[in-house]
Amino acid sequence: MTRAAPPLYKHHVLLLSHNFFIKDNRTELRLHAHKYDFDILCFDEVRDFVAAVAAVAEEGGNTLFVIDLDALHNLQADMLAARRTLMLSELLQRLPADHSYVYLQSARQGGRFLLQQRLVDSHCLAYAEKPIANDVLVDKLFNLFVQNKRGDLVRVIGLGAAGVDEEALREHRIELIHHTYPLTLHLRVKELQPDLVLISDAEYQRTEALVRVLKKNIEADPVREIVLLQRHSDADLMRRALASGFDAAMPAADGALLAAQLLNRVNKIRVNRDLIGKDRATGLLNKVGLQKKAQDLIRQAAIEGRPLAFGVVDIDKFKTINDTWGHHFGDIVIKRLSLTLASMLGERDLLSRFGGEEFVVVFWDSTQEQGRQKLDAMRCAFGALPFEVKPGDVRHFSFSGGIAGYPACKTENELFVRADAMLYEAKQAGRNRICGAPIPCDAPVCQADG
Ligand code: GH3
Ligand code: MG
Ligand code: MG
Repeated sequence: MTRAAPPLYKHHVLLLSHNFFIKDNRTELRLHAHKYDFDILCFDEVRDFVAAVAAVAEEGGNTLFVIDLDALHNLQADMLAARRTLMLSELLQRLPADHSYVYLQSARQGGRFLLQQRLVDSHCLAYAEKPIANDVLVDKLFNLFVQNKRGDLVRVIGLGAAGVDEEALREHRIELIHHTYPLTLHLRVKELQPDLVLISDAEYQRTEALVRVLKKNIEADPVREIVLLQRHSDADLMRRALASGFDAAMPAADGALLAAQLLNRVNKIRVNRDLIGKDRATGLLNKVGLQKKAQDLIRQAAIEGRPLAFGVVDIDKFKTINDTWGHHFGDIVIKRLSLTLASMLGERDLLSRFGGEEFVVVFWDSTQEQGRQKLDAMRCAFGALPFEVKPGDVRHFSFSGGIAGYPACKTENELFVRADAMLYEAKQAGRNRICGAPIPCDAPVCQADG
């Protein structure tokens, strides 16, 4: 079945580009973007671009702003009448300061350090060097859309950590939990799985084995950092602390300075977590990342007495998609599915690319039936996406899903096994549907090509 639905793009790139350089490229660039489900709006004039940027009020990360620095030439044409050349800084000054920008520069521009410095200091989300192939640029922009979210919440446990500027930490999504008894610290760490542990010098002196106990645990999180909070400068103590397993020491005298130092460590921890726990192609959690997050969520659900719904998704007949239109096309289907699922998530829901074309969604505070309905809405949204396999030939694809519920299933593993069994049922029952007993399998509501 072929349906020609007009594509409605939720994500947009506003691109300011040199009118001579990229003009011939535009059609191809936009076609690439459409494959990934976003549109590119091109601007020649700085004035128009700035007005369009200023009109975008949202913070939701649905719009990216890209500036080809050769657009300076356009400006210079503007300025010709005024008989002066336009400097980069003048362009940068005109950009609304409440957004971040992606800069495209030539290798010659990139070779000049002062120019680079000015760029990265000017609300720079990222920069790229030209020439850059259209499909590569589109792929990178797609990843920025997926990643253009707030940094993950980072949890810190503090022992003797009074006086830290907690307000400053909270602003950067860092949560500081105070712990009082050194002899139960290892239990609290095991329970809460913090990203960073902060221990004061006084507490360390009292119980020097603290860090060894934390570090020697065979299950200790390798990304976690343990930091000594120094109220008194003491080189000897610091040496001992570092030798016993502390990753760093920070002076506690200035609360704001300490918060700034912690923030830097935390950002490194975030990068490390992403390297280990996220899928490079889609920016979503991978299997490892999901495991930690799902365990956290289950713990939280137990504390707050909330239900969870755990869904497993698998694209239907994906081998045929690969075999018919090629592996690269298959990759695009995966990316568009990931963007569709991501755009329908609640604030506390989890989404993971679990394996090749399999995804896991965890719905916070949802019964199994509510989760089934949400996953079904995602199924319909994906089924409605038009894929132009060749000019004029639009296809639709589908996925099947299985769902399980907490607290009926207790652990992340139990939830997965149960949901996966339900997925198998959905495949057996003819695909393009969500199964989750005790509710019987529904007949598909939205049709898709098989
Ligand atoms: P079913 O409806 O039963 O799920 O049929 P299927 O063809 O989708 O079967 P299955 O789920 O077993 O096939 C998954 C295929 O996905 C196998 C593998 O070649 C392909 N695949 C896995 N990862 C990727 C990827 O990253 N990109 C692409 N293009 N293909 C992948
Ligand atoms: Mg599969
Ligand atoms: Mg499949």
